[in-house]
Amino acid sequence: MTARGRATRTGWLAYAAALLAVAAAGLLAWWWLRTPAFAVAVRADRNVLVITIDTLRGDALGSYGGRAATPHLDGLAAHGARFGFAHAHAVLTLPSHASILTGRYPYEHGIRDNSGFRVRSGETTLASRLKALDFATGAFVSAYPLDQRYGLNAGFGTYDDRVSEVGKTTELVVPERRADETVTSALDWIGRQNGKWFAWVHVFDPHAPYKAPPDWQAKYPSDAYAAEVAWTDFALGPLLDRLPQLSRPTLVVVTADHGEGLGEHGEMTHGIFAYESTLHVPLVLAEIGPGLPERRGVTITSPARHVDIVPTVLDAVGAPAAGDLPGASLVDVIARGDGNDRPSYFESMMPMLARGWAPLRGVLVAREKYIDLPIPELYDLAADKGELQNVAAVRADRSPVLQRVLQGFNVAPPNRPAEETAGTRERLRALGYTGGSPAPARDKYTEQDDPKRLIDLDQMLHRARERFQAGHAADAVTLYQQVIARRPDTADAYRNMAFVLWQAGRPGQAIATLEAALKNGVTQRDIQVKLGTYLAEVGAAAKAVPLLETLPQDDTEVLNALGIAYAHSGRPAEAMRLFRRALEFDATSGLAHQNIGTLHLRAGDVKAAETSLREALRIDPTLSGALTTLGVVLVKTGRGPEAVEAWTRAVELEPTEFDALYNLTIELLAEGRIDEARKFGDRYLTSAPPALYASDLAHVRKLLGR
Ligand SMILES: [Zn+2]
Repeated sequence: MTARGRATRTGWLAYAAALLAVAAAGLLAWWWLRTPAFAVAVRADRNVLVITIDTLRGDALGSYGGRAATPHLDGLAAHGARFGFAHAHAVLTLPSHASILTGRYPYEHGIRDNSGFRVRSGETTLASRLKALDFATGAFVSAYPLDQRYGLNAGFGTYDDRVSEVGKTTELVVPERRADETVTSALDWIGRQNGKWFAWVHVFDPHAPYKAPPDWQAKYPSDAYAAEVAWTDFALGPLLDRLPQLSRPTLVVVTADHGEGLGEHGEMTHGIFAYESTLHVPLVLAEIGPGLPERRGVTITSPARHVDIVPTVLDAVGAPAAGDLPGASLVDVIARGDGNDRPSYFESMMPMLARGWAPLRGVLVAREKYIDLPIPELYDLAADKGELQNVAAVRADRSPVLQRVLQGFNVAPPNRPAEETAGTRERLRALGYTGGSPAPARDKYTEQDDPKRLIDLDQMLHRARERFQAGHAADAVTLYQQVIARRPDTADAYRNMAFVLWQAGRPGQAIATLEAALKNGVTQRDIQVKLGTYLAEVGAAAKAVPLLETLPQDDTEVLNALGIAYAHSGRPAEAMRLFRRALEFDATSGLAHQNIGTLHLRAGDVKAAETSLREALRIDPTLSGALTTLGVVLVKTGRGPEAVEAWTRAVELEPTEFDALYNLTIELLAEGRIDEARKFGDRYLTSAPPALYASDLAHVRKLLGR
């Protein structure tokens, strides 16, 4: 009886559950039948919002099966189109964004790395195309690689790239702005628009280092990357929530520039390989606005590519197709729920450009992926998502077929921009920098140059960065030396090692490191810029000027560095000309304004100096050098207490702002604030490198009786 009773009860419960399930299925079916599938309506009078989330893996969002809770972006996918097989063409921020915004492959737009390349002037971007159709255009970016100096601002009426410039010339730190700040700036701009607009919002938070705000870290204690992804979704919420309140509908496109290795295939971050961990990206299109019917989301498994985004947006706003672009609109694909195969070209050139490794190029055709390297790779992604079985050898029938498809794209390796020419080498040799014979330009790469054989060097470079950031500069230097011993053309090892040595107060060794790079045949522009800057700072401006003069003056970093070298050589008029030219390339270069302010101060024009320095700080409030120089202006104009504030802020922002520490000591002593003076003076004595500050150190020691 008891047993039966229990059985009955169980049976009833099971029946009830089944009944509920049937009811739910019925509701779902009703909703499914009644709700039309999402399709992009062609409409000229609409807004367009492109959101690019840096370093967001193709599998990171909740709707793609990721761990992080991403309700805002999943909500878009639930009522829009979600592409499950979308790919980037490059695995670095600037080259990939150039493809998203121009609709061209890297070999067409010419941007192959984050540094050393600039978008051609006159290049047509999505912004310039939409501007011609009367859209207001605004960009809101969050990281230095997208600074307007690289030229992606073409066609944008507003280009907000207010990201700190501090530390910009090293890969040890990528200056960034938090997603919520960028979203606030974009919302301000959107709020000021009356007509239709196109906005590009770029957020950077999922990029390493993974440091989400503490609340978000706490939600994902063992997965710092997922915490960043969840935080980013949250930070984008206010932007997406605003769209239903606008007077016209907004087409929203969300994608990533590339993914993140997270240790897969030995790759910690991105920029080396082109496995799915970094090449596969999310792609979601949706439409938000007043009076739109409810639509159910569609998931599309046929391939989509970054080069398809510009044609898709043009199609959606009723503009004629741009015949010169390699991509094709996805509007029909979304309407049909399926599309044809679209072979996709991809590449990774940074390892070649910065390290002399073999260039990586490849092609995706349906679910086959071919990677052309000295050790070729072929994967069947349908059966092997993780790319664990390289079938290039066993499918000898397929490799040549895919190789031929790849040949259909332009696979000539890129020239190093303006730095590899015979003329540059000749000029460097005349200055005594290069050795007897230039490093042979590699026209053949062997298995020894294959990034698969060299990935441990990449791990050593990552470890060096971590050791330096943890305060162990000597360990970092040892690691860099080990990398250089194995591959003497690893430009970024020299550059980062020189930076670490400079920060550690060993300017002579920093300079020697960069000179060794040039002697070993590394002629990258940023090596020369850094060497010229260091030489100027240690008082060897006479050596810096001819070195920097060998570089083309079309880049704000070159112009600022050469300007400083001229200023130190007693050539202020030429320095001023270069700083002003830097502002032509990048109107929001805080450093250029800072340098102009310093020149005015040296010329005794404190008023003009203050104007320029305040402009520098308006653009970038974290510019510690501008604060240091502003403090001098303030003291000279009788505003001692304000000067102390400026210098205190400068050394808070940048502990190596030694001139500010020195000034604080002197000024506080003069004001009779002895204890405070001692505090800063002692910091100066223990941290300022004697190689650069010998006489000032002696002076402070004497004043403090140390
Ligand atoms: Zn990126």
